[in-house]
Amino acid sequence: MDKQTVLGIIDKLLIIQERDCRIARCQRELDDIPNLKQNIANKLDQHKTALENAKTTIKTRLVAVKQREVEIESLRQQIAKFREQQFQIKSNEEFKVLNREIAVLQENIRGLEDREIELMETVEQALQEENGLKAELAKAEGAVHGEFQQFDERLKNLEAEVQQLQLDRQGLVVGIPEDWLSRYNRVMENRKDVALVSVEKNACGGCHMKLPPHVLQDIKRADAIITCSFCGRLLYWHA
Ligand SMILES: [Zn+2]
Repeated sequence: MDKQTVLGIIDKLLIIQERDCRIARCQRELDDIPNLKQNIANKLDQHKTALENAKTTIKTRLVAVKQREVEIESLRQQIAKFREQQFQIKSNEEFKVLNREIAVLQENIRGLEDREIELMETVEQALQEENGLKAELAKAEGAVHGEFQQFDERLKNLEAEVQQLQLDRQGLVVGIPEDWLSRYNRVMENRKDVALVSVEKNACGGCHMKLPPHVLQDIKRADAIITCSFCGRLLYWHA
């Protein structure tokens, strides 16, 4: 193969490589989008969990309030029973004993009522917190919705860009000899970054290994495909 033809092929392959690198960049970004969306969705989960916890707290406190009410009611019944007994009692002493019992129960009721009021205040606080969390969740949902829309937009643009680049590529490969093209494609598939590199300071521009003098001569002569024996990339002399 004459030098002019080889240099022409290399020029075309460099253009194709530029397109391939752009396709790969788009593809990496496309591959990342589901993860990024998932991360955003996870943030929403934190808000949902906080709200669930607040609801649980409210329920627990309401149960505690109810328990105090049940206890108070049972003490009141006890007092009513003592008062009935007092009607049947003849001795003054026994009457006084029951009065003392009733006083103790009334004191207990007051304690329980105080506790119930405290609990109801904490329920009120928890309800306020719940409202705050609901508002935060709604705000976060709105933000996530907006971000998802942006990602979907980006996804559509990237897909269109890849499609256009691939279409370009189909036109660019026309006329490139099959052995060059298949070698280029194979190396690109293996290396994932670049397949065609220039010599830099007598080393391979891909893996940076020093190239032997006879290989450098072959590359300068440019009459065949020359590859790096270390990394397999195609080499050309940067004029
Ligand atoms: Zn190399």
